[in-house]
Amino acid sequence: MLSRCRLIPGSQLGFVAQPSPAFSSFRVSATRSSTSKRGFHVASSLREKIQSPSTVKQGAVNGDAHKALSEIAFAFDIDGVLYQGSRPIPGAREMLRKIRAHDARYVFLTNGGGSHEDAKFRSLSKRLGMSEDEDVIRNRIILSHTPMRGWDEQMKKQGTVLITGSHPETARRVANEYGFERAVTPADIIEANDKVYPFDNLRESLHKESRPLPDGKIVSNTIDPYSKDVPANALKIDQILVWNDPRDWSLDIQVIHDLLISHRGYLGTISDKNGNSSLPNNGWQQDGQPPIWISNLDLLWKTEYPVNRFGTGAFVEALKGVWAASTGGAELQFSALGKPFRHTYQYAHDRLLNHRGQGDKKRPLKRVYMIGDNPESDIRGANEFAPDDGTQWISILVKTGVWKETAAQREPRYKPAVVVDDVVEAIAWAMRNEGVEVTRDWLAASEEDWV
Ligand SMILES: [Mg+2]
Repeated sequence: MLSRCRLIPGSQLGFVAQPSPAFSSFRVSATRSSTSKRGFHVASSLREKIQSPSTVKQGAVNGDAHKALSEIAFAFDIDGVLYQGSRPIPGAREMLRKIRAHDARYVFLTNGGGSHEDAKFRSLSKRLGMSEDEDVIRNRIILSHTPMRGWDEQMKKQGTVLITGSHPETARRVANEYGFERAVTPADIIEANDKVYPFDNLRESLHKESRPLPDGKIVSNTIDPYSKDVPANALKIDQILVWNDPRDWSLDIQVIHDLLISHRGYLGTISDKNGNSSLPNNGWQQDGQPPIWISNLDLLWKTEYPVNRFGTGAFVEALKGVWAASTGGAELQFSALGKPFRHTYQYAHDRLLNHRGQGDKKRPLKRVYMIGDNPESDIRGANEFAPDDGTQWISILVKTGVWKETAAQREPRYKPAVVVDDVVEAIAWAMRNEGVEVTRDWLAASEEDWV
């Protein structure tokens, strides 16, 4: 039985919903849709009397569903949408098999990162109880840092990047696979010079693995930090990449801060432009310091623990706080990937348009439905994204993750088109919005029950 979809009053899309009728499997109508006065696509079936179940043929449903699914696409967040902690959302697996069987285009757009896309594919398959041989998840994973695959090859070949995250060595290996030839981790730096971090450290655990600095570079502690006559073998970092939530905030903030105050990214130097009030941002980050890229700004995420946990965004807030304190209030200048940022949605959109890869012409999309649990990232990003080809992105918020209605917060800060119980309901709602009534039972039926 379908549960009720609850619409947010004043939603950005202005959609007005009605409670969904309760259908059993195959009791469906294939009513066509109309467009609302505000231009938002509203299924007439939500407003009209549903056909008598006896008049509906299953074949018609499959046909209409197939046509609708071939014209739209889905972007699924993973954590809090497809599973909660280690528990898969009931029916999610069957629903994915169903839309795959109907040739729907979809990607998994997660702010997770720090690992390879294939590792995420394997872990998601396992959590959903799917075989890795099934062509349902493979090659559809977009992690927070996946858009870096498309970065300039020359820069990746010639530059040196500092990379950090939950497992820096894993992140480095993935970065190498992306084409970053010189990727340095914080562990490499404290291995090269233990004066960088004069405290007990995690060299027996988190920082156990390290590599020599590239090209024989060193981290010297005898440099005059204000001299511009920097030794040729001094380590210079060209980009700072934070791939996901670091575990060793203390070391990472120290090293990142060192680079942000440096002269042109040479570790151990200090820029004489710092604090110069005649320069923009009082001279901070105005001397060729490496740009900093953060792959995910989610402050919170949902696990099996009852209270939301800190994500990479919390680390960034800590870094901003230290930066403000040490610079007299300067703003930390950085770039971000992941949801809700346009770059990530554009990358996902292009992947959906080029769904089949080589040999398949771009098929235009009528609409893309973003299904997420986090208003600040999933919903905000979809609401704000307006691709050049005019495709509409529609946000659907599920109740199985980060967002919970409370007495203090009745509505999410970024309002979705609709709030539904879970991801299966989200697809049912999207199909209804396309003018095709499908039930939860139809979507979540196991394959042997498909007709
Ligand atoms: Mg999530």
